[in-house]
Amino acid sequence: MENSDKKIILAAEKIIHAKHLVAFTGAGISVESGIPPFRGAEGLWSKYDPQVLDLGYFHQYPLASWNVIKEIFYDFFGTARPNAAHDALAELEKMGLLKCVITQNIDNLHQAAGNTVVHEFHGNSHKLVCTKCKRHFELAEINLEVLPPKCVHCNSLIKPDFIFFGEGIPMQAYQASHVAAEKADVFIIIGSTGEVSPANQIPIHAKNTRATIIEVNPENSRYTHFITDIHLKGKAGEMMTKLMEQIDQKLKAKKG
Ligand code: NAD
Ligand code: ZN
Repeated sequence: MENSDKKIILAAEKIIHAKHLVAFTGAGISVESGIPPFRGAEGLWSKYDPQVLDLGYFHQYPLASWNVIKEIFYDFFGTARPNAAHDALAELEKMGLLKCVITQNIDNLHQAAGNTVVHEFHGNSHKLVCTKCKRHFELAEINLEVLPPKCVHCNSLIKPDFIFFGEGIPMQAYQASHVAAEKADVFIIIGSTGEVSPANQIPIHAKNTRATIIEVNPENSRYTHFITDIHLKGKAGEMMTKLMEQIDQKLKAKKG
């Protein structure tokens, strides 16, 4: 048996016996849905200037910022669909095994796949907020054909409700993520470099409170030789499909 197969079997066993399984996802889980990460040769910042997500620049040049934000986060991300890895996490929740997803992503793909408990560490592009009166809007309520979008109540600038550079983490997601990491006895990290702070502390918190750490990533991350117990080295969709097959087999064997 290949070493990678042994790791899948071991990870499946840990998940089946978990009392509190938690998932933590980064940009890598959405790569097979066609959304590139920010960094690296193929990353979004090799094509676009990250200053459009700088709060000061956004307020000074709202139209220039919004033109780029719309192109990346709405025209391009907007057509993306969940892949096998998102589907696997939704299935694990339905099976009663997965308690929640903590995500750094803003693409709404966990909810689109069917997960109902998602702590969004960096917000969500499908929600928007007025920069003045702080009213919230769903994406469907806002006309992005006329930029920059303005609030129907106070006519002020509307901003996507994900965090820009220099903004704080939404308090509720921050606290809920820490509580979830503390409760976790098995914690699965999918597609994260571990370089983005303070989100990168969440898996470390889980490890410190004695969770077994499973990591899915085709590359090594900052976690791999530091806190990871079982590294499933491969793409999220492929590895999660194999893992789900193994979990199904084991559960059937247990029943029959
Ligand atoms: P990152 O961009 O720093 O790293 C992505 C990680 O995914 C890398 O470790 C890479 O090896 C791995 N990866 C690449 N292809 C993969 C695949 N097919 N399967 C599994 N893993 C794969 O991502 P990050 O650590 O999440 O940090 C970047 C920040 O940018 C995040 O905080 C996030 O908010 C944001 N972001 C979000 C999206 C999105 O919403 N989909 C996209 C880009 C960036
Ligand atoms: Zn307003």
